[in-house]
Order: sequence, then structure tokens, then C-alpha cells
Amino acid sequence: MAPSGKQKDAQKASKKGNHRARKRFGQHWLRDDHILNQIVLAGELSPADHVLEIGPGQGILTQRLLNTQAQVLAIEIDRDLCLQLSEQFIAFMASGQFRLIESDFLKLDFNQALIDFDLARPNKVVANIPYYITAPILEKLLGTIRSPNPQPFDNIVLLVQKEISDRLCASPGTRANGALTIRAQYLAECEEICPVPPSAFKPPPKVESAVIRLRPRPFPTPAKNPIQLAQLVSVGFSQKRKMLRNNLQSIIDRDVLSAVLDRLSLNPQIRAEGLGVADWVALSDALDEIDEKPPIHQLPDSLNPLDLDLDLDPPEQA
Ligand code: SAH
Repeated sequence: MAPSGKQKDAQKASKKGNHRARKRFGQHWLRDDHILNQIVLAGELSPADHVLEIGPGQGILTQRLLNTQAQVLAIEIDRDLCLQLSEQFIAFMASGQFRLIESDFLKLDFNQALIDFDLARPNKVVANIPYYITAPILEKLLGTIRSPNPQPFDNIVLLVQKEISDRLCASPGTRANGALTIRAQYLAECEEICPVPPSAFKPPPKVESAVIRLRPRPFPTPAKNPIQLAQLVSVGFSQKRKMLRNNLQSIIDRDVLSAVLDRLSLNPQIRAEGLGVADWVALSDALDEIDEKPPIHQLPDSLNPLDLDLDLDPPEQA
């Protein structure tokens, strides 16, 4: 079938490297040298590293990743961009330093792809990701409290919305400390590297951004019962303004809960945002030790995805 006018335009545009940004794929090209350097530095890359880049776009970050001599595996959903990238990085592909998979990262069976394409498992992630799928990307990279990624990355450097960075890196007792904070910090050290203004992108996004670095690790005091911990966090944060004990009374006997809060020297009037990850683990473990019937009523699995409290804008229509 002959290419349609639209396809021809896309081919022409992609040859010239002036692909028009597609809003439905969350395309915002990073244009700021300083920020690009910060991102690459945060990855702490060496030639021995294998880096996964989600959404290479027009390859501006990809080029800098390749300059470190690390191996780069990129996953891009947009066919026109894949054509463009294959031309642009033809020499790196020939040498094997750069590999590109055209796929929706969320739908890709990553382990299977590594086998099918005979690829080494990447040990790091460095990416300017599409914001509208931040939560599922985080979950795919980190896993969940119940089932952490069994093959964790050494580090994960991402550009995300500033609001998400604030939540991932929040301290106990601050408003940003939510279920996402606890889930992410249970699975990884989270730090903000630098804020990024909209003007660093073309076209500029509507929101402020930030570079973050996550270092996955087993939590130093792992919960004895991670399923219970996941449930406590979901239910504990179900109504942020309420006291923790009022949220949890739907699944835990009031007296049991009072006794446990007392034993942990936690204020009975505390709200969920007042607790840090270690407090949640201590709460879960203390409930586990109670020598009665299980104090927690079972809840359905679906209450526990990492993105439960995320409320990001849906993708805009192109
Ligand atoms: N890294 C580039 C582009 C960032 S924009 C830069 O910094 O300039 C986000 C990129 O993710 C776009 O290239 C977009 O096409 C791609 N993308 C969007 N959804 C995706 C998905 N589900 N899987 C893989 N890539 C995706």
C-alpha cells in the first residue's frame, strides 16, 4: 500500500530530524545542556554499565549516554522516531553499543525481550519519561511492597513532574508524605537531583519538573508481612485528613490499634502523613505479633498498586 500523505510527511520530517512533538505520547524534548549533564552525571555511568532509556525521542539524551561509552538499550513507542534514531545512531548500532526496541514500554515483557534480542540485563535506568505514565513506569521498575522487582537496578535516574519528586522524596510530617512516598521509600532511596523549569523543554510542559535518582535496596528493617504492610499503607492513607486510627478502624479492631500505637510511642491522634517508612514497618510488625486471630481483615489486591494516590493529568489529545 502506498504511504498516505500523512505518512509521507512523517517520513520527510523524520529524515530532517524535525519530528513534530506528539502530545499523546507525552513528547517534550529536553533542550537544556546543563540539565542534560546533570542527568548523565546522576547516572554515574561507566563503560561497564548497561543503561535502559525509556522514550529516547530524538536522541538528545541518548547521544550523551553513548558518549559515556556505556551500552544503551532504548525503548521507544513512536515508529517515526525509531526510524530517525536508527539512522542517527547507525554506527553505534553496528558496533552493538546501542540497541533500540520499538515498543510500548508498559506492554513489553521486558525479561522476554532480553532473551529474544539476546541482550544483557541493564543495571541502570536513565530517562526523560512521558509524564502521563510515570506511576506505572515506576511500578514496573521498582515492583511493589508485596513483590519488589527481583532483579533491581543499581540506580534509576528519571525526569518527572516536580510534584511527583516532592512526593517520592517527602519526609514524615510533611503534606507531601503520602502512600506513594512510603511505597517508593520502602523499595528505594529517593533523592531529588535538581529542579527543572518548563523552559528546559520544547514544547514546554505545563508543569515544573525535577530530576530524581532512586537507588533500589531491600529496606534495612524489612516487614515480616509485606502483604499486611501494603494493606496498612493503602487503608491508612485512604482519607488523608483523618486520623490514622479512624482510617484503620475499618480493618483493625480499635482497642488492638490503640494498644499498638501506645506500644510504639506513637501519638494516638497521628495522621498517616506523620509516619515514616520505618514507623509503618514497626506498626505492621507489631500487629503481626499480636497473638490473636489475624487483626487485619483481608482486602482485595487491587487496593495496593503503587499508583493508588496518583492523580496525574490524562494525556492531552493531539
Ligand atoms: N528523551 C527525549 C524524549 C522525552 S519525551 C528527550 O529528552 O528529549 C518522552 C518520550 O517517550 C517520547 O519520545 C515518546 O514518544 C516516548 N514514549 C511515550 N510513551 C511511551 C511508551 N509507552 N513506551 C515507550 N516510549 C514512550
